[in-house]
Amino acid sequence: MKLIRKIVDLNKALAQEKGLGFVPTMGGLHKGHVSLINISKKRCKKTLVSIFVNPSQFNSKKDYKTYPRNLNKDIKLLKKLKIDYLFIPSVDQIYGKKKLNKILLKKSQKILCAKFRKGHFEGVIDVLDRLTNIIRPKIIWMGEKDYQQFFLVRNFIEKKYKTKVNVCKTIRDSNKAALSTRNFLLNAHNLKIAGTIAGELFKLKKLIKKNIKDKNLIKKASHNLIKKFNIKIEYLECRNLINLSKKIKKHNFKLFVAYYLSGIRLIDNF
Ligand code: AMP
Repeated sequence: MKLIRKIVDLNKALAQEKGLGFVPTMGGLHKGHVSLINISKKRCKKTLVSIFVNPSQFNSKKDYKTYPRNLNKDIKLLKKLKIDYLFIPSVDQIYGKKKLNKILLKKSQKILCAKFRKGHFEGVIDVLDRLTNIIRPKIIWMGEKDYQQFFLVRNFIEKKYKTKVNVCKTIRDSNKAALSTRNFLLNAHNLKIAGTIAGELFKLKKLIKKNIKDKNLIKKASHNLIKKFNIKIEYLECRNLINLSKKIKKHNFKLFVAYYLSGIRLIDNF
């Protein structure tokens, strides 16, 4: 595994690479990241992983500062996984010189997380634009866990580059909670609650599928979840799988949730 920190070195190393698989991460690696890396290793000639906690996608300085980081452990894990390249740029390397076009979301895209985390996806798209511009991968691998992120990034990147953006299924704990770096901020009790909530939402999705016209199911479920688990729900809503509109049918929707569990913001979809 080649560990690279500077863009000039990356350019040299990648000069001859054509079929590169790219897994962008913010570190704090877990089995969700590992599954993306393994798929990339299987399907691409070579695999590059980046670790970059991108300041421009955080809404608050405190959230950026407290985001779990574990660089030494991550590097050890990636060595074991035998990836080809690990890119760990500094903020200055990514944002130093080059100005790219300013990213603006359309009004119709300001839904779900985009509605509640102002500027978040603009930051995500901007950094992936910069990274793709440098790396020029054949395929970017992203997680279904962050479906809206995948949806917006694919839309942007596939229009601008030859790169394809592929999605991989969400990896869950044995208790059904979606793996997430933010789970490191939860204690064992709250991790268990996150699993129970995921279980309830799997059931809710089945119920909605059977009663697709019943608009009250979500309202009732929200009310029950808040009462039972003392959580703050930011959104709980169904969206069309293909275009994220509110027009859904039995077989083409996902249930999206964002909630705060003892001050930690978690997202998932079913
Ligand atoms: P992050 O480090 O949180 O920015 O995530 C890097 C990539 O891993 C993103 O494409 C995420 O969607 C993906 N990812 C995060 N958690 C999971 C999970 N539980 N299952 C599958 N992919 C995941």
